[in-house]
Amino acid sequence: MTSPRSGTRHLDMQTVLDHLEDKLDAGARRAAEEHLGRPCSSCRERVREMGALLETMRLDTTGEVPAWLHQRALDVFHPRAQVSPARRLLESLAELVFDSLSQPLPMAARRSIGEARRLRFQADTLVIDLELERESTSSVTLRGWLQAPDPALWRIQVQAAGEERNAHPDSSGAFLLEAVPASELQIHLIGPHGSYRLPSVTP
Ligand SMILES: [Zn+2]
Repeated sequence: MTSPRSGTRHLDMQTVLDHLEDKLDAGARRAAEEHLGRPCSSCRERVREMGALLETMRLDTTGEVPAWLHQRALDVFHPRAQVSPARRLLESLAELVFDSLSQPLPMAARRSIGEARRLRFQADTLVIDLELERESTSSVTLRGWLQAPDPALWRIQVQAAGEERNAHPDSSGAFLLEAVPASELQIHLIGPHGSYRLPSVTP
């Protein structure tokens, strides 16, 4: 395999897998950890995604990678199809597909990305990952990553305790809201072709 030569290189899929399975040599591991220490949300997401997939595979007693899971792994690294025009202007309910409270990540992934609660929602071809971290008894930080064809065209609207907050993802899909009230969160994704409501989340 090819190893990143310095901490500035993005981690390719093979490196992420080898990292999670503790198969990197010392130099490659140092480079990977150095890169993951940088504010590179896309590589952190790769580690998170592959960690969740590995855990699912490990728990799968057949020992085979199910076709849907294999496709999902590939989808992470390829652009997704456009939202169907029939979906435009409709509001749909996104589906919770991962919650770290019920599906803990393997140790290597926890080492890399800490102990925040992570959730993944899916709606049509969109995927949104959320990371909830307590700031205090009354507030949380909400980090997220939207996988959509043009993430910067979307708005993430969060309503909590009578307050409304809005975040605009950058071109990689990453967004951040700090000092969000630690009460039930109502989250909407508002995009160019429609909007989606997430099931409410209680931090
Ligand atoms: Zn990176």
